[in-house]
Amino acid sequence: MIDVLRLLDALGIEYTRRGSQLRARCPHPDHEDLNPSWTIVADEGGRHGFHHCFACQWGGGPVALVAAVLGLEPKDARAWLEDGDYAVTKLELELDVRERPAVAGLGVPPEVQFIPLERWPKAAREYLERRGFGAATVDRWGLGVVSATEKTQLRGRIFIPVLDDAGEFRTYQARAFGKAATRYLTPTAGPPAIFGCQYWPAPVERQVVVVPEGPFDALAVDAATGLPVGSLLGSDPQPWQLLRLATFRVVVVLTDPDAAGRKAATALQAALARWTRVVLHALPAGRDPAQVYEDDPVELRAMLQFVGGLPGDGHRVVVSAGPGAGAEAVAGCARGE
Ligand SMILES: [Zn+2]
Repeated sequence: MIDVLRLLDALGIEYTRRGSQLRARCPHPDHEDLNPSWTIVADEGGRHGFHHCFACQWGGGPVALVAAVLGLEPKDARAWLEDGDYAVTKLELELDVRERPAVAGLGVPPEVQFIPLERWPKAAREYLERRGFGAATVDRWGLGVVSATEKTQLRGRIFIPVLDDAGEFRTYQARAFGKAATRYLTPTAGPPAIFGCQYWPAPVERQVVVVPEGPFDALAVDAATGLPVGSLLGSDPQPWQLLRLATFRVVVVLTDPDAAGRKAATALQAALARWTRVVLHALPAGRDPAQVYEDDPVELRAMLQFVGGLPGDGHRVVVSAGPGAGAEAVAGCARGE
């Protein structure tokens, strides 16, 4: 969490308040904003410091703000925030995963609200909670919500930002929380992306990645195990995605127990097998990882216990088994199936 008001004073940004949103002229040096188009959240217990410009689509967390305004590299901006004691708790700084969101013309649509879970529309909050997720998941993954009363295509949906591993916004998935003909909306054009990669360890530390199909499956595996996840978002694997997955020693493919899931898993195995160890892990019939998690988070964790070195709890993830040990544990399990 960040002391937003002190931070804005220190950066010389004049603002007006509207509820939990502070509004100001966009402070990004490339944007000469004549009317205030920029907002930042300063909310009790919420995402302190998330900000977004509706005119130029720039946005991110406090690190991105300081980096742009003071012309610093992100790591120096982070140090600046910590030195100046703007961090009320360490946690929110680590959650800051967004930088400039406009990539290839994609920005965060303005109707998406990034507000604390307790202020989400009731139906959206209940949907998320029914699936076993709470405020920690909303904060960790920067989930947003679009009210059902909005007049846009995204209305009545939970907004799941998909970032790259530098934390930049790539694309999104939008999951309906009520009745809708299409469960997921996703932009038709967008750069290739892997959901979850902003939390991958540095390349030299990469051991195991779990590859489920959809974003909620990835959220479930993350919450249950703390293992790195990489969802390909239902698309056929693209070469770019395969190359990224191949930076792990072991790729555990956790696809849905249906024909499409098996086909995707087999395709991934064929494409990746020459570079890395691929384990196809079958789930019980009729239940995808998100469903298993919804039924019982402990069960999902137990299903992935074979990976070895699962973190005790929380989210700072390094698979502790050595390279050989991790791979052997996985291989043993694969033979046992
Ligand atoms: Zn702007």
